[in-house]
Amino acid sequence: MKRSILNSLGGFGVILAKRFSVILVPEGDGTVKRLHLRSSYLRFALCCCGIVLGFLAFFAHSYYTDRIDREELQRLRIATSEQRQTLNHLVTDLGNVQQQMNILSGAEARVRQLANLEPVAEDIPVAIGGLAESEPVAVVDDIQRQINRLQVEIELRRQSQEVVRNLLNDQVSLSRATPKGWPTKGWLTSYFGMRKSPFTGRRVMHEGLDIAANVGTPVVATADGVVARVKYSPGYGNMLIIDHGYGYRTVFGHNSKILVKAGQHIKRGDVVAKVGNTGQSTGPHLHYELRLNGVPIDPRKTL
Ligand SMILES: [Zn+2]
Repeated sequence: MKRSILNSLGGFGVILAKRFSVILVPEGDGTVKRLHLRSSYLRFALCCCGIVLGFLAFFAHSYYTDRIDREELQRLRIATSEQRQTLNHLVTDLGNVQQQMNILSGAEARVRQLANLEPVAEDIPVAIGGLAESEPVAVVDDIQRQINRLQVEIELRRQSQEVVRNLLNDQVSLSRATPKGWPTKGWLTSYFGMRKSPFTGRRVMHEGLDIAANVGTPVVATADGVVARVKYSPGYGNMLIIDHGYGYRTVFGHNSKILVKAGQHIKRGDVVAKVGNTGQSTGPHLHYELRLNGVPIDPRKTL
């Protein structure tokens, strides 16, 4: 096999020299051949090689960058597809949340109706379009609008529930403060209204109910309240007044004993006194009065 040797005559000297030789030395036997070349040929050949190498480098670089771009594009396509799916799920989830909100609104409207409250004024919810017919950007805008709408709806629901809660709390408080039931176990011996006084024989107003019972029978509060007064009066004997708020007061007379003190908070059913025969009384009984804004009313309907 032949070896080619570029006859190097020292660096650029080979280019600058007008002529140069290439010596071909065969392996083994054979004659050494010498080729005489002009330097212009060599420059031309080197130029050609340079151009070819330049083109090769350019194409290699283009191929490499194209390949990176294609891979990047593929990745972006996958990411876009995944984002589109995520958006679709978001649209579905948001639709479900809206549906739940509508169900809650319906339930709340019925509660407001039961509480005799006006319905909450609100817009009809707008459904969001799917991705098939809309651009993702438009869908994101829709989702944002829907979220804003839901936030407004949640605030409306919160305010409405506060109104209903306050109303119910008021009703519960009023119910607990409204006297109800018998204050002691016994039987009615005298009603509310005009009657002949057992002491003077004249017709006078009897401002409560008389409930006959044995001395010591427990007397209970007929509503939540605060003990307003505990005192002895010649007429009522050992007398107890409970303030229930909302204008209601109950008065208990002729007790043998009073078990609570002024200012004490009590609940309906708490034992507050014992039936007795103190004051102007013809026998053991409880005189029970109910006053609304200071005016005695018939307690019989509340028993
Ligand atoms: Zn009486």
